[in-house]
Amino acid sequence: MTTPASRTDTAPIRPLSAAAVARWDREHDVVVVGHGGAGASAAIEAARGGADTVVLERMTLGGGTTASSTGVIYFGGGTRIQRACGFGDSVEEMQKFVRLAAGTDADEEKVRLFCEGSVEHFEWISALGVEFKETFVAEKTTHPFEDDCLFYSGNELAYPFASQAVPAPRGHKPARPGEAGGFLMQCLLRATAEAGATVVNDCHVERLIQDTEGRVVGAVVHHEGAPLHVRAHRGVILCAGGFIMNAPMVTEHAPHLHACRYKLGTPGDDGAGIRMGMGAGGHVINMHEGLILNAYYPPASHLMGVLVDAQGERFINEDAYLGRTSDAMLTRADGRAWLIVDDTMIGPTQAGHRMAAVEGSFEDLERALGMPDGALVQTLETYNRFAARAEDPAFHKASAYLRPLTPPCAALDCTTSNSIYGVLTLGGLAVRATGEVMTAGGKVVPGLYAAGRTAAGLPLEGRTYASGLSIGDATFFGRLAGRSAAAMPRRLTLLASKPTCTEVP
Ligand SMILES: Cc1cc2nc3c(=O)[nH]c(=O)nc-3n(C[C@H](O)[C@H](O)[C@H](O)COP(=O)(O)OP(=O)(O)OC[C@H]3O[C@@H](n4cnc5c(N)ncnc54)[C@H](O)[C@@H]3O)c2cc1C
Repeated sequence: MTTPASRTDTAPIRPLSAAAVARWDREHDVVVVGHGGAGASAAIEAARGGADTVVLERMTLGGGTTASSTGVIYFGGGTRIQRACGFGDSVEEMQKFVRLAAGTDADEEKVRLFCEGSVEHFEWISALGVEFKETFVAEKTTHPFEDDCLFYSGNELAYPFASQAVPAPRGHKPARPGEAGGFLMQCLLRATAEAGATVVNDCHVERLIQDTEGRVVGAVVHHEGAPLHVRAHRGVILCAGGFIMNAPMVTEHAPHLHACRYKLGTPGDDGAGIRMGMGAGGHVINMHEGLILNAYYPPASHLMGVLVDAQGERFINEDAYLGRTSDAMLTRADGRAWLIVDDTMIGPTQAGHRMAAVEGSFEDLERALGMPDGALVQTLETYNRFAARAEDPAFHKASAYLRPLTPPCAALDCTTSNSIYGVLTLGGLAVRATGEVMTAGGKVVPGLYAAGRTAAGLPLEGRTYASGLSIGDATFFGRLAGRSAAAMPRRLTLLASKPTCTEVP
């Protein structure tokens, strides 16, 4: 059940006029809002660029959703790990793939910069103490479960991507068993302090402060029970996460995502950063898009299974990345999908799928699932006929996963009502590659930057997404935003009690 959208939770948060500020409680060159993956990367680069930088984090400790994540980062073009594992990758092939993975409206400049800078970005993160092991996991998985590193994290080997870019594994997981986001963020938080940025925790940023020329010059925060006015001489960088935890905002912009009951986020993903940016004149784009994940693999043997909808029909190649198959399960199959497997394929899934039925024949399975007469039988017989020849003319599944199904068969319940669909949002403030926030008219909101899930960054579609692109985007473009803000001329701002406004280069 979702509640109707309330304008209080979804409306732009209007900035405070700088003319109404009587006294600045803190003054810095660069103010970073949020200390997750994007915020830490922005702060490190701003501080290293010589700017007096502060990070304002609403929680007692930074980390955000990045800390609760698996920590996979998308790197390529010939990283040390790729080379050590024997994979030749190139910037050109990575660029071809990332353009597809970013989605139909991919921003060409962001794609180019991300790919050209990927090896350097890998070295930058490594130099912060983030270790990566020189190991490759060949089996299709959501992520390496031990401390291994490299794997095919997206659709690189799947139709239609495989024929459009030379495949290379580019998912890099830091060398920690299981989820590695906590380790990644430990390194980023430590590096923020070492770079000389000031970190203020338990500091909730509530609205921006804007001068009469439209320049963002600071933020109103709530800290230790009192409101404070924090001045930003060079810029404010919004890195406050996405909006998956704001149900009314999801209702307004991406209501179909409510069908996914497992929100991939932390309380900080309440959309406040996006709404503050909107209030200052920022334009939002891509707000209807999300990444949807229903993890029916591992085990990789499940890629040999057959996904069907309530009509007993296939609708996607089962060996595609989960972001693609899960989107199809939700949108094409209307959230009513089952994975049909036989004895040679079955195993516990990562998301703990239940069996909707186990039957000794295709006919009995069809009946048990309440599908139209003959529909599932025909689908499976046709699939089997071609699979025996390692062909899949309908959906082009790779031959490695084509094997006829032999009854008895089980139907794993992949419906939205009975299985776990994770989801996060991919829409946010329209930004240039530099992180500068744009107005609807294509102008820059002076003094305002955004990165990570607060921005509509590099990955724009769950259907094409590859694991690691979100943290890859947040850290890479967070760095660019930090550098851009630090390079801005320093400004003084008119106060309520002061007569003039002076600009200092
Ligand atoms: C279980 C899980 C696994 C995932 N695995 C991966 C993966 O392997 N690879 C990948 O690329 N992506 C993964 N993701 C997605 C990815 O983690 C996030 O999209 C990404 O880390 C977001 O980074 P960010 O810097 O934009 O936001 P965050 O890391 O969430 O940082 C935002 C910070 O801003 C703070 N904040 C929010 N509002 C305010 C405010 N008003 N004032 C002050 N501070 C504020 C928050 O507290 C938070 O610390 C995963 C997500 C989940 C939940």
